[in-house]
Amino acid sequence: MLRRCPAAVAGQFRARMCPVTDDGLNRQIEKLAELIAGANRIVVFTGAGVSTESGIPDFRSPGGIWSRFDPEEFTIYRFLASPETRLKQWRILVESGVIADAQPNGAHFAVAELEKLGKLDCVITQNIDNLHQKAGNDPDRVYELHGTMNHARCLGCQQRYAMKDLLARIRLDAGAPLCPACDGILKPDVIFFGEQLPAEALRQAVDHSRRCDLLIVVGSSLVVYPAAYMPTYAKEAGAAVAIVNLTVTDFDSHADVVIHGKAGEIMPLILEAVRQNLGVAGGDAA
Ligand code: NAD
Repeated sequence: MLRRCPAAVAGQFRARMCPVTDDGLNRQIEKLAELIAGANRIVVFTGAGVSTESGIPDFRSPGGIWSRFDPEEFTIYRFLASPETRLKQWRILVESGVIADAQPNGAHFAVAELEKLGKLDCVITQNIDNLHQKAGNDPDRVYELHGTMNHARCLGCQQRYAMKDLLARIRLDAGAPLCPACDGILKPDVIFFGEQLPAEALRQAVDHSRRCDLLIVVGSSLVVYPAAYMPTYAKEAGAAVAIVNLTVTDFDSHADVVIHGKAGEIMPLILEAVRQNLGVAGGDAA
């Protein structure tokens, strides 16, 4: 079931910035590039922070979604409670920008490039924005633990709709959307707090995390569970874990490499260092 860690629920979770010198940064980038060059099964685990530079706010940074909306609203119980609460959640999701014409940034392209270099086993993402696939990752290698805003589903007849087509047909100012076929409740294909994660995606994510030799976290506060267990599964299985995140996470002290900075800037630098390590000519990752 989708849940946050107690400290985050109580609002005690603080975004802690960590200044890094250029030298220190370069050393960490080089170290991660070496780990990538030497690894055979790399899992990239991403959160909302990988997409903020694409214009989609995350939940916990200043100005993020939770600073404007109460997370307690975002439960399946509220969604089902009334047309009014349902409409509010639809509006939050639609206005959050996840289905606007957001485009992948340098971090998404760098991850897609790792796949082209034959270095990527899979992407496990908490994001619902489809940007890894848009950047060029094989959709079959992207496990979306929290669903996708690409589609909506009728809770009555189970008809699935492409979100873009649906939003062209319905008007949110006319009330909570109803299924065009049967007037049932329409729900975005995303996981609300209190809902079970998609079983097969979760099973695959756990399996790949336990079998990888390097797991790279990009842009996640690591406080939303069960997704945030993936680095632990990898570490327990003997894999190296690297974190690329703007702020400190509680897993930093367990990680082999920690790089604090913007994913859209750092990931292309890492990719470049990997290419040099592998002796591969540079491409156009950003
Ligand atoms: P989060 O909001 O808890 O944490 C985001 C993390 O990313 C923070 O630690 C922040 O410091 C970091 N960050 C922000 N900008 C960054 C950048 N440019 N480069 C590197 N790091 C950056 O997000 P989470 O860990 O993904 O978990 C919260 C939930 O948010 C998930 O359930 C996810 O489904 C949902 N969510 C998804 C989207 C999306 O699809 N793009 C957007 C908002 C929320």
